[in-house]
Amino acid sequence: MGKALIIGCGGVASVAIHKCCQNSEQFEEICIASRTKEKCDALRDKLQGTTKTKISTAKADANNVKELVALIEKFRPDVVLNLALPYQDLTIMDACLQTKVHYVDTANYEPEDTAKFEYKWQWAYRDKYKKAGICALLGSGFDPGVTGVFTAYALKHHFDEINYIDILDCNGGDHGYPFATNFNPEINIREVSANGSYWENGHWVETKPMEIKREYDFEGVGKKDMYLLHHEEIESLALNVPGIKRIRFFMTFGQSYLTHLKCLEDVGMTSIKPILFEGKEIVPLQFLKAVLPDPASLGPRTVGKTNIGCIFRGKKDGKEKNYYLYNICDHQECYKEVGSQAISYTTGVPAMIGAMLVMNGTWTKPGVYNIEEFDPDPFMEALNKWGLPWKEDFDPVLVD
Ligand code: NDP
Repeated sequence: MGKALIIGCGGVASVAIHKCCQNSEQFEEICIASRTKEKCDALRDKLQGTTKTKISTAKADANNVKELVALIEKFRPDVVLNLALPYQDLTIMDACLQTKVHYVDTANYEPEDTAKFEYKWQWAYRDKYKKAGICALLGSGFDPGVTGVFTAYALKHHFDEINYIDILDCNGGDHGYPFATNFNPEINIREVSANGSYWENGHWVETKPMEIKREYDFEGVGKKDMYLLHHEEIESLALNVPGIKRIRFFMTFGQSYLTHLKCLEDVGMTSIKPILFEGKEIVPLQFLKAVLPDPASLGPRTVGKTNIGCIFRGKKDGKEKNYYLYNICDHQECYKEVGSQAISYTTGVPAMIGAMLVMNGTWTKPGVYNIEEFDPDPFMEALNKWGLPWKEDFDPVLVD
């Protein structure tokens, strides 16, 4: 039993909060704190009366360490679950450090002015967290998140050595809009318009955006084109998986999404460099975000399934072995259960599970850790229990 402070009240947070409330045996009390307090109040009003979890709300600017420290001191949580944006990771980590409270997030820190996906800023807190006796669990969403747990599970139960990992993220959902993103548009577009890269033989290999394309037949979805992207978990898995030779990440995109994205890029709308507009500085990508559909509003109109998982190739008892671990999630079933589409669902459920394992002491060790550095078994069990059951294939089709 414990108390969690949840920062942010967007698409992912809404699912995590629903799940905390379903899991009231563990989450005795939560405080939802975000920039727009009205959103927190509306969610509290919707959930109160359906759960034993006690819910309070607060207004918080997560860029302001002093404000966060005051909020943490007032609420005294056992864990802070950061579901705001990657720009706020360091200020929230600082506030947790000052108040000696455990920290969990789902995305690595990014400076606002450069789309760089690197752990170095957060890994720099390792000694400070160790000395303070608190734990930071980094990347407890789906990817990063479940993909790291899948890797740790494969390593623990199925391999002596993993040499190749292909992470396949397929969204077969259709929301009916010509162009919309499934999570925060700014973060999403920064990610997909950056150069791609993969890890091979001890170093990064960089590609142009969308340069490498493959087709894969996904169970529950069918054949889809997928493209190689840089993705943050590659960096930590490359360090934490002994004997690894190559890690790649592929994500599916429909033609309409790609055509629109190309056009928006060509006209400068995806730029993160501020421009002067009618005497005021604006960032084109932030303006674009303001005119695109809010990902949280896609829930009722999205149909179809997601299929996300990892194909592992390695050795067991001296023999070559292949193993595919994946989850299939249905957009409409998520909507019926928690009022959100599957992208928010597949991130919000692992966020709740990570916060629970840190809060109840199962995964607490002082320092800053990526998710694959913990025992995967309790997390794998919780995935089955809390709505993201996983499947295994011992003879998967491989990606060339
Ligand atoms: P949203 O934009 O829907 O929600 C972000 C929330 O954070 C909003 O409630 C927003 O407030 C709040 N917020 C933003 N800035 C501040 C601030 N300075 N102070 C306080 N609150 C703030 O994003 P998502 O829910 O889609 O994504 C949340 C996180 O999840 C992101 O970091 C994203 O990268 C990550 N993610 C991780 C995935 C994974 O698999 N690991 C997959 C998908 C997302 P307001 O309502 O005022 O805008």
